Amino acid sequence: MATGIIYNVQRYSIHDGPGIRTTVFLKGCPLDCWWCHNPESQKPGQEIIFWEERCLRCGDCAGTCKKGAVVFRNNMPVILTENCDLCGSCSSKCPSGAQEMVGRKVSAAELMKEIEKDTIFFDESGGGVTFSGGEPLMQPDFLDELLKRCKEKQINTAVDTSGYASWETVNRISENADLFLYDIKLMDNIRHKKYTGVDNDIIINNLKLLARKHNNIVIRVPVVPGINDSSDDMLAIGEFVLTLGIKSLNILPYHNTGMDKYRRLHLEYKIPETKPPSQERMGEIKDRLGSLGLNIKIGG
Ligand code: SF4
Ligand code: SF4
Repeated sequence: MATGIIYNVQRYSIHDGPGIRTTVFLKGCPLDCWWCHNPESQKPGQEIIFWEERCLRCGDCAGTCKKGAVVFRNNMPVILTENCDLCGSCSSKCPSGAQEMVGRKVSAAELMKEIEKDTIFFDESGGGVTFSGGEPLMQPDFLDELLKRCKEKQINTAVDTSGYASWETVNRISENADLFLYDIKLMDNIRHKKYTGVDNDIIINNLKLLARKHNNIVIRVPVVPGINDSSDDMLAIGEFVLTLGIKSLNILPYHNTGMDKYRRLHLEYKIPETKPPSQERMGEIKDRLGSLGLNIKIGG
């Protein structure tokens, strides 16, 4: 039986596909987008986030660690990652949730039990389960088994993906996924590589192949001011997806709610000054793309 690592299960979601959905966030992503608001999703394995303002300085984390991996510096616990084996004792012992283990190992069967608790909401709303991340295609065996189990239970499924995976993986997953929420960030490859860390040719080629065999694809485009929000960039994406016969495109306004997590993970947030696009600008982009013949929705 396949197992995987997830970092969140969000119930009653209304932005990740039709109806009321349970969104499962799989851990690990091959991209490193400058605007990512879930940086804790990027590393494939488990990790510990430290919430400084929650810390009571009680020392329980240091006391419980058998590896001597927690030391106090400036009256604050610090984990020496080179000594830490991610056993989780410190986060279990911490009375205030300051040491938080991100990522949970779970089998497909265990996760299905959680998902099936929401079947009544799926049935009443036309919803289902959405596998997001991170990049769910990074755990293909786990994802494939979950999709098959959902199909057996007649639970609608969506896969929210960057499209950055081998075609073999995308093809395999497409056999049992009811809907793809497929991200495109930029058509210009040089800037795509700069802002996401990877080339877009794999993403573009996979989408071309996927569009030939799967008839339920919604394109999702994050709108990030100063990076991809120009009319030229948006039109390039819109014109490309129309050539594939895809009509549905969601534009997602950038937000910076994840900025604080970067500090906690000792990561650099590269666009701290960037503000969310105005409603007016989102409306302009919607109208411009809509004039091409696309069905545009603002938000997920
Ligand atoms: S996860 Fe385990 S090894 Fe790592 S710091 Fe916490 S208690 Fe120590
Ligand atoms: S156990 Fe939690 S609250 Fe106590 S020192 Fe460690 S991180 Fe802070």
